[in-house]
Formats: sequence, C-alpha cells, structure tokens
Amino acid sequence: MKNDEPGFSTLAVHAGTKPDPVTGARATPIYQTTAYVFDDADQAASLFGLQAFGNIYTRITNPTTAALEEKVAMLEGGTAALAVASGHAAQFGVFHTLLTPGDEFIASNKLYGGSINQFNHSFKSFGWNVNWVDMDDIGAVRAAVTAKTKAIFAESIANPGGVVTDLEAVAKVAEDAGIPFIVDNTMATPYLCKPFEYGANIVVHSLTKFMGGHGNSMGGAIVDGGNFDWSATDKYPFLSQPRPEYQGIAIHETFGDFGFAIACRVLGLRDLGAAISPFNSFQILTGIETLPLRMEKHCQNALEVAKFLEAHKAVEWVQYAGLESNAYHKLADKYLKNGFGSVYSFGLKGGYEAGVNLVSSVELFSHLANLGDTRSLIIHPASTTHRQLTDDQKVAAGAGPDVVRVSIGIEDAKDIIADLDQALSL
Ligand SMILES: *Cc1c(COP(=O)(O)O)cnc(C)c1O
Repeated sequence: MKNDEPGFSTLAVHAGTKPDPVTGARATPIYQTTAYVFDDADQAASLFGLQAFGNIYTRITNPTTAALEEKVAMLEGGTAALAVASGHAAQFGVFHTLLTPGDEFIASNKLYGGSINQFNHSFKSFGWNVNWVDMDDIGAVRAAVTAKTKAIFAESIANPGGVVTDLEAVAKVAEDAGIPFIVDNTMATPYLCKPFEYGANIVVHSLTKFMGGHGNSMGGAIVDGGNFDWSATDKYPFLSQPRPEYQGIAIHETFGDFGFAIACRVLGLRDLGAAISPFNSFQILTGIETLPLRMEKHCQNALEVAKFLEAHKAVEWVQYAGLESNAYHKLADKYLKNGFGSVYSFGLKGGYEAGVNLVSSVELFSHLANLGDTRSLIIHPASTTHRQLTDDQKVAAGAGPDVVRVSIGIEDAKDIIADLDQALSL
C-alpha cells in the first residue's frame, strides 16, 4: 500500500528529527553552542548575505531548534516556522515584522491576559495600536477595519476556555481587507485545530503550554502559512521593500512562500534577540512526541470533570465548549477535531469566598498561573491574575468574584474529581 501522507501521531514523533548525521544519535542532540565554524571565507560571506542557508550564531539559528521548527511547521501544515524564547516573544516578533509606528491591528477581546497587557501597554510604546473587538460579532470585526489596519489577531480556543472563534468567518474579513489573519493556537494545538485549513495566514504558539506539555520549559513559535501575498501592496515594507543590510534584496520576493518566517528570523529575531535556548528546544521536542496521547487524555478528563462540575450543587455554571449546553458547542464541533481542550472556567454559588476556599483546599490540583501541564492546575483569577481590576472590569474580563479556572491534567479522572469533590464540600 502506498502511503504518502503520514498521520499526525507519526509526524509528532518523526517530523524534523532524523538521526544525527554525524554521530547517528537517535534523539536530537542538544547543540549547546553559541557559534559555528565557517567552511571558508566565501561560505561565511554567503551566509551573512542570505545567499546560503546555514548556521552563524545561535541567536538566529541552532540545529536543535531547527528540528523543533520543522516539527511545528509540519504539524500545523505551514511552510516554515521560527521558534523563540516564549509565546510573547513570538507575538512580538510577528507584529514587529508587520507594523510600523502609527499602524493598527484588530484583536479579539477574549485573549490570554498576558496578551491583553502586551497589546495595551508595551505595543503602545512602539506606536502599534490595538483595536479590541468582540469576535462573536463578525459585523463588528468588519466594521473595525480602517486604512491603517494591518492584521487581525484571535485565539482558536480562547480564554476563558469555553470560547471558540469562528475562524473561517474572521479569515474572510481579513482576506477581503487584504490583511493577514494571525491565530494563537496555544490552547487547541494542531492536534485539535489547524487554523491554516480555515484561512489563517500566520499561527503563533506558546510552546510553554500543551506543546511542550510538562510545565518545565518556556518557548514560542511563529508558523508561516505561506498563503499571503506580502508584495501585493506597500503595506508590509519589511517584506516587500529592499533590505539595505542584505544587499538590497526584498525578502518576500527572494524567499517566496516562507518569506514571512525568514523576515521574522533575519530581521526580528536578529534584532529583538528573544532566542530560545537549545535545551528548551530539546525539552519541547521531546514533549511534542506525545502531544496526541496527552491531548486525548486531557480532553477526555476535561469533559468528565466538566460534567461532574455541571451537576455539583456548589457550582452555578460551567463554561466549556465540550458541553452540549454550551453556546460555543456548534463552533467547537466544526473547528475542533479530536476534543474540546482542557482549559475552562466555572462559577461558584458561594462567590469570592468560595473561590478562595476551593483553591486553598485542593490537594491534587496545583494552585498556580499556568496551563497545559500534565498536572491539573487551578486558579481563582479575582484574587490573583485579575486582582488589580475593578469589580466591573473583572466581570467584563470573565474573571468575576465567583470564577475559577482549571487546566485539567492527565491524571486519572476519578482522582481529579475526588479532589474537587472534597475541596468543594469543605
Ligand atoms: C501562555 C500563553 C501565551 C504567552 O506565552 P508565554 O510562553 O507565557 O510567553 C500566549 N497565548 C496564550 C493563549 C497562552 O496561553
């Protein structure tokens, strides 16, 4: 039987990670080196001029990181990827390549809290202006586009975890406006959702979360969909205009359908400097090998726990797209292929006190600010991540006094449920 297209689990194990050509090492070695010896002066010159691919300095490329980049690109179905130090570094890298001072972009108002901060504060000092929109209202997304809008940004499964973005509809708005659609696919991972299949142009990841999956290494990725014409207008000068430091080559014209990833590397990563450590690339590479197995278990457990919570007398509501009662269940059925994710929130009848009490009483759960770990995690946003907001702002951000957020791990579901049960009855 001819088999041209390896399946997702096969790619998760094998993509990007051939045996080491020099030593035969089967696991990808950690190339813990800062720099690489040139063959000769001519080769050095062509590397610096972008006329040849090769390693110069680990801030820009590294063989362990290259294996991770190829794996992530293949899992997402992109043309190329760039791994960086964190999810936030990936977002910074993307916008640095797209925007010049005075430009605008549209972002969903339902995002990871750290992204809201990054867009509202640091980006402002670069003259990059965010325009927040409720993406449940596609008309509002369309209405928010102006002559200065250079991109649209959303999460596939958004914070809080019950929210699913209508990717195809948003992609259509971006396409009509001639601007790229960027999707943060951290919460879904390509095992649940592949945004390029729905018209996204760029995917970003926090590899820190489900991709690495073990809560032990920070990392981020930018994936190029290879499906946007950066030279169609003069809106994206980093990609379409000659680069003085590279003998006047224009990056999109020279590198074609992986030009965006190249620009993020040879302009963004070169100058912003947020390189991932080869050790972290190794850890995340290892983590991704079991991504499909872990996601299956995360999603199964998350649904069982959500059903338990929905039926519990101390719980007022559960916001999880996996539940048929959820407003986003239809979108989830359309966009999420192998499960509904494992991060969501629920509301306690006892309000703030009950939230504080729950996070103080759990034993198996870890009370901390992270998600996508093998372990089950819990946080009460009103007393921690969203503490500084007014009560009204907390409610608007989905972090009212009664809200608890969980990231369900891969332990036995019965033990996760037993822990919540004992903590809720205290
Ligand atoms: C964690 C996270 C980020 C930021 O990633 P870091 O690796 O922490 O910088 C961005 N988006 C989402 C959805 C996240 O969960």
